[in-house]
Amino acid sequence: MSYDLVIKNGTVITPNDTFLADVAINGEQIAAIGQGLVGQREIDARGRYVLPGAIDAHVHLTDPRYAPLYTPGADSFGVGSRAAAIGGVTTFVDFASPYAGVNLVKELDVRQKEAEGEAVIDYAFNLTIRDTDPSRIGELHDIFDRGVTSIKMFMAYDGYRLNDATIFSAMEVIAERDGLAVVHAENDDIIRMLKARLAKEGKTGTEWYLSALPSATEGEAVHRVIAFAAHTGARLILYHQTCEEGVREIRHAKARGQSVYGEVCVAYLVYTSDDYERTLANGFSIQTSPPIREKRHQDALWQALADGTLDIVSTDHGPRKRPPGQPAHGISGIEARLALIHHFGVNAGRLSLNRWVEVCCTNPAKIFGLPKKGQLLPGYDADVVVFDPNKEFTFSAETLHSDIDYSSYDGISVRGYPQMTISRGEVVADGGSFVGKPGRGRFIERGTGKRSS
Ligand SMILES: [Zn+2]
Repeated sequence: MSYDLVIKNGTVITPNDTFLADVAINGEQIAAIGQGLVGQREIDARGRYVLPGAIDAHVHLTDPRYAPLYTPGADSFGVGSRAAAIGGVTTFVDFASPYAGVNLVKELDVRQKEAEGEAVIDYAFNLTIRDTDPSRIGELHDIFDRGVTSIKMFMAYDGYRLNDATIFSAMEVIAERDGLAVVHAENDDIIRMLKARLAKEGKTGTEWYLSALPSATEGEAVHRVIAFAAHTGARLILYHQTCEEGVREIRHAKARGQSVYGEVCVAYLVYTSDDYERTLANGFSIQTSPPIREKRHQDALWQALADGTLDIVSTDHGPRKRPPGQPAHGISGIEARLALIHHFGVNAGRLSLNRWVEVCCTNPAKIFGLPKKGQLLPGYDADVVVFDPNKEFTFSAETLHSDIDYSSYDGISVRGYPQMTISRGEVVADGGSFVGKPGRGRFIERGTGKRSS
């Protein structure tokens, strides 16, 4: 028997196992994993890792609805997804973020049309609620019916912030539909007051940034929303965890048996607040919110990622075009994540190879309920990465493929880089170039995720 495509002699890495094997693909799906498999086309992966396609469960490709308060991300669905594919990503989760006062389903339609025919890998959406009108919550049922099962909510920041009652009511619906609440947790009141106080004292420089966003304001908000989840029964993921306090709350919730998950983004694992001045001097800002904090917080994040308190690594990719003569803002990473976590996690001895695959590839599919994604198993989508553990690579605007003149990881060198990316059986990236068909990505209609207890 001969398969369409066989990846030969690679080291297959799954969350539980590392072994030499061939991976056979028929059409869009994985057909077999074993020894001596024969294909009409064969790819030699000797000395390479073979892993499930990476999933970035948190990206912001160009969304006009960021305006007027914020600048939309620079990468379009086409550009951003091509960069992702080159970096080993086969699925991403973006957002539909209707303005307050707008019907949620109508706006989801518009967002889906923006991605359709543009994205080159598969994608799903979170629906962001920005409206405190109680009648809007009822529309969530229509959103679930459309296969969008994760609802993003902000506890802070103008244009997005919801009050506790709205978050609580939405969680009741999310629990009823066994969906996923996705929360940006910070204490808005206190941050607002601290920012105003510091501004009044003229303390607006980089050195004061963390003073306006202390870790206690994040830990408190994480605690609060976990309490709402406990009462309503909603599954919950806390996006972009940055500090000891938040991680501790998630650890406690898990110990109680709650279905609570934690995400950390690459920037918080690579940078500390010691890097603010240097990156700014290099022409880009890594100031974001919640903020990149001191080294002791970064150590807590790596520890939590290794011990299972934090479940996934994403990017929050949303770099913005550089304003003339100024530093660029917005964190990139959609193309760099798999290599960065391999280098700073596996090479540095903080994560096992298996845990690297689990947090970058497998867990996002489980938590977000992405069917047939995230695992190398017969019947699953043939989303596969061939990764060269010895390739040396230095990040820069020139070596990456985003639509910006910087990268948030400019000048950082890693050992280990994706060599080839296969999406539903089709080689879409090879040796640092996109080689797939334009606009081939598909919207993923989701079921609901698994409860952890
Ligand atoms: Zn985000």
